[in-house]
Amino acid sequence: MFKALLLSEIEGKTTAQIHQLEVTDLPEGEVLVDVAYSSLNYKDGLAVTGTGKIIRSFPMVPGIDFAGTVAESASDKFKPGDEVILTGWGVGERHWGGFAQKARVKADWLIPMPKGLDAKKAMIIGTAGFTAMLCVMTLEEAGLKPDSGKVLVTGAAGGVGSVSVQLLSQRGYHVVAVTGRPESQDYLAALGAKEFIPRAVMARPARPLEAQTWAGAVDVVGGEMLARILAEMEYGGTVAACGLAGGHELNTTVMPFILRNVSLRGVDSVSCPLERRTLAWERLAAELPESAYDTLGCAIALEEVPQAAQDIIAGRIQGRMLVNMAL
Ligand code: NDP
Repeated sequence: MFKALLLSEIEGKTTAQIHQLEVTDLPEGEVLVDVAYSSLNYKDGLAVTGTGKIIRSFPMVPGIDFAGTVAESASDKFKPGDEVILTGWGVGERHWGGFAQKARVKADWLIPMPKGLDAKKAMIIGTAGFTAMLCVMTLEEAGLKPDSGKVLVTGAAGGVGSVSVQLLSQRGYHVVAVTGRPESQDYLAALGAKEFIPRAVMARPARPLEAQTWAGAVDVVGGEMLARILAEMEYGGTVAACGLAGGHELNTTVMPFILRNVSLRGVDSVSCPLERRTLAWERLAAELPESAYDTLGCAIALEEVPQAAQDIIAGRIQGRMLVNMAL
């Protein structure tokens, strides 16, 4: 028997409860994993609280990422004892996920633990940190360099935001953090942010073109804030857009694109191809300093996930929250 958080739908309302399950309850898959850590991401918050239509069928074990040790494998890609990471692929949405002490998944969804990481570090990074690295890679592929100018990071005190601030600062970028929580400034300064802008300032409606301010931007917020960022980009600047914490709509004009050569690049972590996925994890392992793990992460037990899910949707979680299956 093992412990799992199970979501059910009763009269249209999502409920989350801890259950004792057997391995035979798990969905089909080639690899059985003893999950050591999972993590709480914004999408998990939407799923567990039922705020967003994330879960496609009930009952469902949520948890869009996990790290642990292979217990059984019918694939020659992995053998018992191998340490592995999973993020995305619809796990925790369409296929039972990481908020459980065991998970059974397709071999193609797993990647071997990169050198320099362990299960705990991997889930302090988690989907949010992996997405942050994809954003950094996207900006650099567009030509951004530390001497290009200032780089804006929105939702900075959240998961993707925090890791983006850390990674960009570490690489020598001048990072300006947008946060709705002034009390997070010391935390963000410790991650390397040089300047701060209150969320309310960046969420104001913008004219089609504003003063040119940013060489690059990582945006997790969307909506009005993304429209303002586009209007404030320097000539040739690039925005990596990966989130919708402030809304999924985007009302803008073509002016930043046709008069300032601005690029808006999308970033998806769920279906990211294996080669890019592996590269991003290798870079995370190599580039995140040891000190970042203590600053970024805080651990909870599986039983605490329903409350933490409400907190992440309300924007009350700072940095990354990992779920320790041994607690
Ligand atoms: P978090 O909740 O950890 O961070 C989001 C941050 O956004 C909050 O901490 C807060 O930062 C800010 N925020 C929250 N609500 C609002 C609002 N209404 N308006 C403006 N800012 C707000 O979430 P994650 O970092 O896990 O995810 C961030 C976003 O990225 C989500 O939309 C998520 O779905 C998306 N995402 C997308 C992925 C992809 O593959 N494309 C992968 C991972 C995440 P502060 O307090 O500093 O203002």
